[in-house]
Order: sequence, then C-alpha cells, then structure tokens
Amino acid sequence: MSSIPKTCKAAVLEEYGKPLQICEVAIPEVEPRGILVKVEMAGICGTDVHQRKGDLTIKSPLPNIQGHETIGRIVKLGDGRVRDAAGEEVGVGDRIMWAHADCGECYWCQIARDPVLCARRSGYGWAPPTALRGGFAEYEMVSPLTNVVKVPEELTEEEAVGVGCAFRSVVAGYERFGKLGLMEDVVIQGSGPIGLYSTVVARESGARKVIVVGAPQNRLELAKRWGADHIINIEEHKTAEERKELILGLTQGRGPRNAVEASGVPAAFGEGLELIQKGGKYLILGQSSAGLTTIMPSLITSKALTIVGSVSAHVVHFYTALQFIKANRAKYPFAELVSGKYQLEQINEALANMESGKEIKPVIDNRAR
Ligand SMILES: [Zn+2]
Ligand SMILES: [Zn+2]
Repeated sequence: MSSIPKTCKAAVLEEYGKPLQICEVAIPEVEPRGILVKVEMAGICGTDVHQRKGDLTIKSPLPNIQGHETIGRIVKLGDGRVRDAAGEEVGVGDRIMWAHADCGECYWCQIARDPVLCARRSGYGWAPPTALRGGFAEYEMVSPLTNVVKVPEELTEEEAVGVGCAFRSVVAGYERFGKLGLMEDVVIQGSGPIGLYSTVVARESGARKVIVVGAPQNRLELAKRWGADHIINIEEHKTAEERKELILGLTQGRGPRNAVEASGVPAAFGEGLELIQKGGKYLILGQSSAGLTTIMPSLITSKALTIVGSVSAHVVHFYTALQFIKANRAKYPFAELVSGKYQLEQINEALANMESGKEIKPVIDNRAR
C-alpha cells in the first residue's frame, strides 16, 4: 500500500440548496481503534437529495460531507483494532462497511438497550469536513466507537453497496415487525431500494403474494426479479381507490395481512391504513421528511391494526444483510440495484438523476482512482 496522502478530494455541502463543491480536505491522523479507508464505492440516497436541500427533519450543521452508504478498503488501522463485529480479523486491504457509532453510555444505549436510538450517535454523512466522515470523498475516517463488518470476499461492490443504508434498514425493520406468518400476503408501497429489499425479504420469509406498488416501470421490473408476484404502477393506476380495488382483487377481497411503507410519501400512510386487512400489521420504513398528511385514526382501532416504525440499523443488521446476499446471490440479481456509476466530480449530476427518478441507486465509483 502506497503512503497515505495528507489531503484528498471530497464533495462538500457548504450551503443548503447549492451544488456540492469539490474541495481538497485534510486527512486526519488515525486515532487508536480508528480506521482510515479508501472509499471504493459510495451509494447516493434519497436522503442525500433532501439533505442537500435542507428539508429533512434533522438539519446537519454546515459545511459537511454527505454519503452514508460506503464500502471502504482499509488503508490504516488504529492501535487496538484487530477484529470486526463478527470477530473476524481485519487488516489493511480488507473491504468493510460500518454502522453509525452509538455512544454506549446513554439511557438508550444502556437502559433501553436500543442503541439505534442513541442520544449521542455520531454518524456518517453529515459531519464537518475536518472529521472526514462522509462517503462522497476519496478517503473516509471510521471513528473508534464505530462497529464495522467485513464485506464477504465473493461479493462485488455492486452487490453489497445497498447494504449500507436501505438493506440494513429493511433487516432492522423486519426484526421490529416480528415474523411474517407463512403464506401471508404482503403489499410493499414503494419501489425504491427500501421497497426492493422489503420485497426480497418478504419473498424469502414465506409470503404467499408479494405485491409492489410503485414507479417508474424499470424499478417495478427489478421488483419482479427480486421476488414480486404482482406490480402496480402508480403512473398507470393514479388514484388510491383504483389501487385499492386491484389489491383487494388479489387478496380475496380482504386486503393483505401485512404492508410495508417504503415510499416516503406521507399520503401513502393513509392509503396503507385503508388497504390492510382487519388484524393486520403495518411497517413504516420509508418516511423521513417533515411532510404532513391527513389520516383517519379510527381505522387503526376499528381494524385492530398493529403499526410498527423503524429507523436506521445496528451493525448486526449490516452483517445479516451481507450474509443474506452471500446466501442468495445466485437467486436474485442484487447488483442490478446499481443503475448508474459516477465519478466524484459528477456528484451533482448523480444527485439530480436520483431526484428525477432516472436512477434506482446511483453510486460514486472510486475503484479506478
Ligand atoms: Zn441512505
Ligand atoms: Zn448512546
């Protein structure tokens, strides 16, 4: 491995609503248990699009480096870091992925024992450039408290990159949701990465019918290859009433036992409450905006619905998602999630194509750098 440079290129968000700027930033010293990685591939997320515009519920201080879905190749390990979260030895040259770092000391970490809700999480994708904790850069610094997992040898970057955000969130969401009963129907609202991974997990969990509602058509076609039995294109079937009729027709007139909200559109929540059968369950995974919507809360009581929310994930969910891909890669074309590859300098174009819906999962591909 060649010597470590003093600086590297990074795309910096300086002002909300403005394009990211390619800047030369300092590479910090590696602390004990810290890890410096070369960014191999960084996924671009719907969240990044909203974050750049400043319309998320949580606003990150400026300036910062975005990108929270990174595969990094280890360049330097800080003293004391020898293994990943699964107990495997890690060394220079290994590819890793990592979770946000929880503090391990707060009420949520210690008493509630739900570290995803940690009050002092230090995350990736919204820290100042001096911390170098964002994927839209040539190098990234993994902090001492961060849990990491090795990417299995046989996985390509294209197959693994979706684990960094959507897939680990889906694994964590299904865990909170509890087991899907065998031969139950599942409706997935949304055909972006969260919807697609929700589809493949529903399929592998023994669902009877998996019905995906979304757009555009290329995402729905991928949903079919990832296990959907039926797809409903919202550009063709424009009203909630029309979609409900189609779904009732596919589910003996009762509606699905389970639904997963993966679209992030606030109005989808009300639509889901209308669809699910009595006694059914609803997993809310996609909502992250400050948008409002109108619902009829009495549907929850009259139909005795169970509603489960979930946010982000812990390192165990990264590990599980990677193992799931390793076990099922002959069955599902996971690499097809990556719809476009861009150089770091093309980051603004990639974000624009994510926003317009042209891309399913665009990535910054640094492997040739
Ligand atoms: Zn993301
Ligand atoms: Zn904590």
